[in-house]
Amino acid sequence: MSPLASFAAGIASGTIRVVDLTHTLDPDFPVIILPPEFGQCARFRMEEISAYDHRGPAWKWHNISMSEHTGTHFDAPSHWISGRDVPNGSVDEIDPAAFVGPVCVIDCSDGAAQDDDFELTVDGITAWEQEYGRIPTAAWVLMRTDWSKRRGAAYLNMREDGPHSPGPTPDAIRFLIEQRDIRGFGTETVGTDAGQGSHYTPPYPAHYYLHGAGKYGLQCLNALDELPATGAVLVAAPLKIKNGTGSPLRVLALVEDT
Ligand code: MN
Repeated sequence: MSPLASFAAGIASGTIRVVDLTHTLDPDFPVIILPPEFGQCARFRMEEISAYDHRGPAWKWHNISMSEHTGTHFDAPSHWISGRDVPNGSVDEIDPAAFVGPVCVIDCSDGAAQDDDFELTVDGITAWEQEYGRIPTAAWVLMRTDWSKRRGAAYLNMREDGPHSPGPTPDAIRFLIEQRDIRGFGTETVGTDAGQGSHYTPPYPAHYYLHGAGKYGLQCLNALDELPATGAVLVAAPLKIKNGTGSPLRVLALVEDT
């Protein structure tokens, strides 16, 4: 059988499972909140055009609006100032082959349960590699924290000094880019950076280094506890928004039952 025929047969028989890593687009789902002097990200909104009524007797449909960075979403290089000159750096320009690739899941859920500001470090990454092997080139690296199970105010976890949520250190992100040449980095939190990521040098190091290197981000991922540490394939294709810096999307993981 050809690889694609074998793949289709695996999906049909269920030996390859499709795991949805996407939160539902919902007006109540939190969006990132920046300090008040900055522009703000819009939540998802939906308005009814008609619902089998005088406005359209046989059909129902809605108009929707949101930020490029609302809900489970993709960050393109052009999102950050470090990536503003990256070739093909907006969502409409990225080679679509980049939207399908292998995924490594680093389980930080124990640490995140103990410490809202838990940091993924280089030591944490190399410890993971001792157990599961070297992160392959062009992999998505996803930081599992089980943050996707949080609801309401606990998700952004705002305090007087700003949001508190786990994320990678600047050195960890540089290691993944420079030593492992990853495709991108994804999290279950509202950003690829820690809630307190503005206090690192540089501020928001995941955004700064990833996008400057032409790498991608995924945020607000759901259900990373359903993925194996290695072996799954991620399908993460953003909407084709002209000059778009990011996009809500459906993120699917293909997982082989062994
Ligand atoms: Mn974003």
